[in-house]
Amino acid sequence: MKHGFLVLFLLAARLLSAQDEVRTFHLHEERMGSSFVYTVEGWDSASAISALKQADAEVARIEALISSWQNSSETSRINQAAGQEAVVASEELFQLIVRSIKVSGLTDGAFDISYAGVDKIWKYDGTIEQIPDSQTVDHSVRLIGYGRMVLNETDRSVFLPDAGMKIGFGAIGKGYAADRAATMLRELGFDAGVVNAGGDLICWGSRANGKGWQISIADPVHPNTILASLDIRNMAVVTSGNYEKFIDLDGIRYSHIIDPRTGWPVRGIRSVTVISPIAEFSDALATGLFVMGVEEALSLVNQIDRIECLIITDDNEILTSKGLDLELLQRDSESTDFQFRIGN
Ligand code: ADP
Ligand code: MG
Repeated sequence: MKHGFLVLFLLAARLLSAQDEVRTFHLHEERMGSSFVYTVEGWDSASAISALKQADAEVARIEALISSWQNSSETSRINQAAGQEAVVASEELFQLIVRSIKVSGLTDGAFDISYAGVDKIWKYDGTIEQIPDSQTVDHSVRLIGYGRMVLNETDRSVFLPDAGMKIGFGAIGKGYAADRAATMLRELGFDAGVVNAGGDLICWGSRANGKGWQISIADPVHPNTILASLDIRNMAVVTSGNYEKFIDLDGIRYSHIIDPRTGWPVRGIRSVTVISPIAEFSDALATGLFVMGVEEALSLVNQIDRIECLIITDDNEILTSKGLDLELLQRDSESTDFQFRIGN
């Protein structure tokens, strides 16, 4: 009898552990012109999938709010009223603009959502046949200037004073959306997960195996070789690169990142990867650092706590901020949950 009880007990324990097994659940969706992959660890597939769908719905909501392509978005309404009148924004968009302007201040204008004043002359959809002449660029660059945007905290209105002025969240929106999706999944009770917004990702929690998420960065010159591997727990890893969206004309590659001071696409850097606790900040900063150039970028990052970066130049030189030891990262590169491709 005693014996029988033990067998039953062991059997029950076994069934329980099979049910209790932690699994990893994913959802892939196209959002913001990129592929988003939402990942959580959990036990129950129904609740995990429902949570992943809610996170994705949150990203879709944010896309409809901030997109410059959708005519009905708040961003489009602000842009359409440029030079005419102020537009009252939602608290959410208003605060996103306020935070964007803070990053502009930090990067001395290298990151600037009003860069979009020149997006008529730099088209990255394959339709451009000729590089604009310097006169056209000089004329359009006058439309850029975060300092001239008029923000009124009292009624949350935003005014772009010159006709043709325009804002765009291409360099910060995916990061913001990733943060929101991650927060939602945490609030729904998922203690470990990753939101990968087209290569911009935020990870939280430790995995059931006690490890963080293994993120590896592929070598731009030898894409099958891993350049660095990171064990990430509560961090965002975001890359700005000129390998996805660019214009190739007359043997020159023009990146999709514009120097707001000149109106010309930035050259010299292949990619900037920023590691910080917040995806939105990493996203915006990566773009800003890209514009600032290697020396200024490293000097800025080395002054801020809890932020690191890895820069790959057009000559394939790899530079890291003080807190990142590339050799150490290479030595650690074993298993991988996610692989980044940088530079190809
Ligand atoms: P990715 O889209 O590859 O993640 P980024 O985060 O650097 O790269 O975003 C680049 C996008 O940001 C461009 O396609 C454009 O929409 C916008 N952008 C370009 N230059 C600037 C700039 N100087 N400041 C802010 N946004 C910019
Ligand atoms: Mg960015």
